[in-house]
Amino acid sequence: MKIAVIGFGAAAIGFIERIKNEGHEIVVFERSKDIYSSSISGIRADGKLFVSSEMGGDIHIDLALQKKLVDFYIDNTEDHQVETGQSFTNSSYFKKFYEKGFMPISADFYHLGTDQLKMVLYNIYENFKAFKNISFRFEQNVLSVKTVGKEVFIGDSDEAFDRVVIAVGRSGHKLVGSIIKDYPDLILDNTKVDLGIRYEVPNHIVDELNKEMYEFKVKYKSKTGYMVRTFCNNPSGFVVTETYDDFVTVNGHAKMKEKSQNTNFAILVTIQLTEPFNNPIGYGSHIAKLSNLLAGKGKVILQTYDHFKNSKRTKNLYRIQPTLHECKYILGDINLAFPRRIIESIVDFIETLDQVIPGIAYPDNLVYAPEIKFYSNLLDNTKLENLKFIGDCSGHTRSIIYATAHGYLMAESFLEK
Ligand SMILES: Cc1cc2nc3c(=O)[nH]c(=O)nc-3n(C[C@H](O)[C@H](O)[C@H](O)COP(=O)(O)OP(=O)(O)OC[C@H]3O[C@@H](n4cnc5c(N)ncnc54)[C@H](O)[C@@H]3O)c2cc1C
Repeated sequence: MKIAVIGFGAAAIGFIERIKNEGHEIVVFERSKDIYSSSISGIRADGKLFVSSEMGGDIHIDLALQKKLVDFYIDNTEDHQVETGQSFTNSSYFKKFYEKGFMPISADFYHLGTDQLKMVLYNIYENFKAFKNISFRFEQNVLSVKTVGKEVFIGDSDEAFDRVVIAVGRSGHKLVGSIIKDYPDLILDNTKVDLGIRYEVPNHIVDELNKEMYEFKVKYKSKTGYMVRTFCNNPSGFVVTETYDDFVTVNGHAKMKEKSQNTNFAILVTIQLTEPFNNPIGYGSHIAKLSNLLAGKGKVILQTYDHFKNSKRTKNLYRIQPTLHECKYILGDINLAFPRRIIESIVDFIETLDQVIPGIAYPDNLVYAPEIKFYSNLLDNTKLENLKFIGDCSGHTRSIIYATAHGYLMAESFLEK
């Protein structure tokens, strides 16, 4: 078979890793300039790998396969150095959170760190490139794909492929959108978006927890009825901004070597609306743009927790130094940009969390906004025989390991046929 893989991220890596020895011709189209490009792949910030049946995507991935793929990434680091942790294996923590209404999520964590990821990606690429049946085409921003009978064509090219695997992640939504226009039946669901904040506290407040599990993942049904969750905990980490085409959001990461005095994590509220609503990206983008409008171009809003809770503009900070560079934020009031129900859900979450982790609700802790996690349209992979979607662009995964495993399992299904 001649197979095109569009995008070279986690899902493509899993797909190629599984199929590379089977003699099929694989052509990878990647829009980035080269493997060193700062925009290539989702495997470029933080690199926290986790093994869990409770998060990462909505498909079932065997835990043994997840661990095998974690080992694959660790094998591609320079010196196999990782930070590890296990969440909620300690039953006393489990009980403490559970008692206050939290749903603890179990997972094993392996943190590679932003500083190691470039090398990991490069090593994997070098390994694949050595195979005669695998070729890479960089600077190929694929805008359309069309199927004609048993053949598939990319863009305006007349080069035919037997199969095309779309692995463009969430950043490739334009390509997926163009395919969906031709095949609207592919969409199973598109009603969800996660909106929230990045929270930053001094390390000493969460030290014990960070040592015990590296990342504490919990969900909580707030008094507003909305589900709120923690996401992407970064012990001794850094807050960063993430630039989209027309707005900026906040994010966080941690490095293996350079450490800060603070821990940051996201607190996200899942918004799932019903018909006629069908534009979660539009809704999330509007709130992001409104936040940016208040903060100034390219900036996010920073506020102390007390002011966030009481809807007052922050003019000064007190004990905590933000890890985000001061040219990237403005002190302000997030309440001017976020709907009340979201703010109330987050405040309820933090106040309740403070009963488990004293100090989490200190008035001068830092709140950054907007943090937004978009969900891709949930796509039906059974509709088209020779055009498949893997990883985050399929809507079925949201993490490096799940995306890699999705690609791996797709390759297996090709080999079975
Ligand atoms: C800042 C950040 C930090 C993250 N940290 C973590 C983490 O620590 N742990 C974790 O598990 N998950 C993390 N994630 C999520 C994780 O990166 C993704 O879930 C995962 O990378 C998805 O893999 P993918 O292959 O579907 O997409 P990606 O890894 O995003 O790869 C998609 C590739 O397709 C290319 N592409 C896009 N459109 C086109 C096109 N039209 N034509 C050609 N090429 C195209 C892109 O350049 C990219 O290389 C993070 C995400 C972000 C944004």
